[in-house]
Amino acid sequence: MTKTTPDALPITVRNVTKTYGPVYALDDVSLDVESGEFLTLLGPSGSGKTTLLMVLAGFTRPDQGSLKFGDAEMIRKPPHLRDVGMVFQNYALFPHMTVAGNVGYPLRLRGVSKTDMADRVERALDTVQLGGFGDRRIDQLSGGQKQRVALARSIVFEPRILLMDEPLSALDKKLRDRMQIELRHLHEKLGMTTVYVTHDQREALTMSDRIAVVNHGRIMQLATPELLYDQPENKFVADFIGDSSFIRVTREGDSLVAAGTTLKTNRPVPDAAKLALMLRPERVHLMDGPREGDTNLFDARVTDLVYQGESYLLYAALEDGTEVAVRGAIRAGTYGNLPKPGETVNLALDAADTVIIADEEG
Ligand code: ADP
Ligand code: MG
Repeated sequence: MTKTTPDALPITVRNVTKTYGPVYALDDVSLDVESGEFLTLLGPSGSGKTTLLMVLAGFTRPDQGSLKFGDAEMIRKPPHLRDVGMVFQNYALFPHMTVAGNVGYPLRLRGVSKTDMADRVERALDTVQLGGFGDRRIDQLSGGQKQRVALARSIVFEPRILLMDEPLSALDKKLRDRMQIELRHLHEKLGMTTVYVTHDQREALTMSDRIAVVNHGRIMQLATPELLYDQPENKFVADFIGDSSFIRVTREGDSLVAAGTTLKTNRPVPDAAKLALMLRPERVHLMDGPREGDTNLFDARVTDLVYQGESYLLYAALEDGTEVAVRGAIRAGTYGNLPKPGETVNLALDAADTVIIADEEG
């Protein structure tokens, strides 16, 4: 199918606040979504993701702030005049209608003629790989198929902006993994500016051009998946994305010291009163050869060793008591050679992986 969507639009959110009684669901949020971008709002339950999506869609009016699609101010526009496709968490399909009835619904609202409608419904169903399913009843479909119907309904009127609120959360893991890739391909094909909501960090990393990490109604960091993972700006982001242990870092003269080791790093050091060293399990390794150039070494005692099939997870306590996790690949027959609980080990962290962050939450 050729790309049929008109030019995508950028979204500009400025100083949007929404309260419910004493709760700041959105607390002075500003955000730019680029034209044609796939941007994900990632955050724990209750952080304000759905509220922000509802503000974009026009179902929630913020207390203050402005919202533009392209150059047009949107805050006072009702949802059906915003040219926005929306996929809800629970799909919100009409169970008594056929697949075609559901997918055609937005076209009927917009007064599209019957023949034109049939065409466009079939094309939308093709796009989500449900060609020929138009006459099926909704209750004859699997979870994954329902999800595709909801998606077809959201794109059938060729909106310039697509909003999706945890659209895969009801699917089992295998199907979810596949749908993540499919949605990504669909986005590449259709090119709509897309705002996607999830609480699943791996899903966000898999799908997004950029991710806005949300907590307590505020954006904690907005960056590409790689930057968020590699150089988080605060402890909340470092903790929420990926696994990590943190060690207190103290300044001693011009040096930075953590758990008795003077740190070598070639990363930027934040200008904050309190600092922490972030240790990702797969970036720490067991030192088993001669020491190489720019490596930080930590003495530790193994507390646990866990077999996980493709990899092991080893927990070790540093001399300041902090527990650190180390993940490594298991090659055939090597698991038995790993250090056992009680043994002492040397943990190594390359200067390039020595990420120091501000030890305060935002
Ligand atoms: P998320 O989608 O990230 O889980 P929400 O945007 O749904 O979070 O909610 C953010 C906060 O606003 C939560 O504390 C939630 O309880 C509150 N909230 C959301 N909608 C309403 C509402 N209609 N009435 C009262 N409180 C609400
Ligand atoms: Mg939500």
